[in-house]
Amino acid sequence: MFENLTSKFEEIFSSLKKAPSLNESQVDEGLRKIRQALLEADVSLAVAKKLIENIKPKAIGQEIIRSTTPGQMIVKVVFDEIVKILGDTKSELNLNAVPPACLMLVGLQGSGKTTTAAKLAKYLEKNNKKKSLLVSLDIYRPAAQEQLNILGEKNLIQTLPIVKDQLPLDIVKRALNAASLSGIDSIIFDTAGRTQIDLSMMNEIKEIKSLANPIETILVADSLTGQVAVSVAQEFKKTVDLTGIILTRIDGDGRGGAALSMKFATNTPIKFMGTGEKIDQFDVFYPDRIANRILGMGDVVSLVEKASQDFDQETIKKTEDNLKAGTFSMEDYLNQLRQMKKMGGMEGILSMLPGVSKIKKQMDNANIDESIIKINEAIILSMTKEERMNPKIISSSRKKRISSGSGTDSATINKLLKQFKMMSNMMKKMSKGDLKGGMTPEIFNQLK
Ligand code: GDP
Repeated sequence: MFENLTSKFEEIFSSLKKAPSLNESQVDEGLRKIRQALLEADVSLAVAKKLIENIKPKAIGQEIIRSTTPGQMIVKVVFDEIVKILGDTKSELNLNAVPPACLMLVGLQGSGKTTTAAKLAKYLEKNNKKKSLLVSLDIYRPAAQEQLNILGEKNLIQTLPIVKDQLPLDIVKRALNAASLSGIDSIIFDTAGRTQIDLSMMNEIKEIKSLANPIETILVADSLTGQVAVSVAQEFKKTVDLTGIILTRIDGDGRGGAALSMKFATNTPIKFMGTGEKIDQFDVFYPDRIANRILGMGDVVSLVEKASQDFDQETIKKTEDNLKAGTFSMEDYLNQLRQMKKMGGMEGILSMLPGVSKIKKQMDNANIDESIIKINEAIILSMTKEERMNPKIISSSRKKRISSGSGTDSATINKLLKQFKMMSNMMKKMSKGDLKGGMTPEIFNQLK
């Protein structure tokens, strides 16, 4: 997420932070680089201009120039302004309606509407204890209605049965009826999209909107399309009015132009973001956490939250104790690999850590690849308990036995042993707070 922008910011800040003192022209040069980085990240010109305009008077203020840590103070100013441009605080979903609260999703075809409808229903169930009914109004795209109902069934979310050839407005009426009869708290309408904005799509959305009277009209926009997503949002805002935006495919967006420009360009808050294809890869959009990520300061708060949701506490405690006792073993390593997989793999974890790009490069070099988790699991399971506790004893004859047990070869086993060594070294370093970029023992303890 936003890797390109982050690595540029890390570069700019590290040179600013290195300077013992800063004069106005050095600050100007830093701001010029920030502006350039923003534009290269496909941030709209208006937003880049506004950001620099807001940062500049604060950054060249006497307080900063005279300070003993001018670089760090500038980082703080930039952080505050990015948070502001992203929307300041998180924007809650409004569910304050006599049930059923109708939520309507609009957007172009392929933006992720159907997937997001199911994600949203699951989110409401988990976090708000609300029971949703999923309703597809897309009668045009073949199998669109089926796609939503399959997603609903798979994830145990109620869906409105499909009645062939029924028109969108009639489906809305049927949904409202069904919901009031079955104690549904919210109806999520997935409307039809087109490949681009057209009049008939907008007119249909207006009609549906006046019938369903949704408390939230949310645009689902693909963050990968950058400024196109922003202009689509502006069009929707003008024609049907929007109460919120959900940005999808943030996971693949290295630049972040849409995320940074959206709120400013549409005066509509980003409420959630899609971070993958799976149903739970969906998060509240927190401007401060996103700003942290963009500036390379990591998103430790989200990581800790995710860890407490996804991790098996008992296993973590055991691993933590072993680490402290200096007996981090192959078995612990296997547990770590499995936990990592749960948290979206190495990629997912590293993208949330401070000073990411540096560590990420190290890991890339070490070739930690999601697909090898399974192979590694087989290898570790083919080891004896003694070997798992003390991999140093694994001689070539032992390797032969392990390779035939796991269906691998000794080169793969050697690779695993090397990774294990690297991992346990990294763990030791991290627990001592040795990694650059703000990874403290306190934070690490929370992560485990
Ligand atoms: P619709 O045409 O707007 O209903 O779009 P779909 O919901 O069918 O999504 C199109 C594709 O995007 C599907 O393959 C989804 O799995 C994928 N997708 C949706 N949201 C995300 C996301 O947040 N991240 C990623 N990586 N893929 C997503």
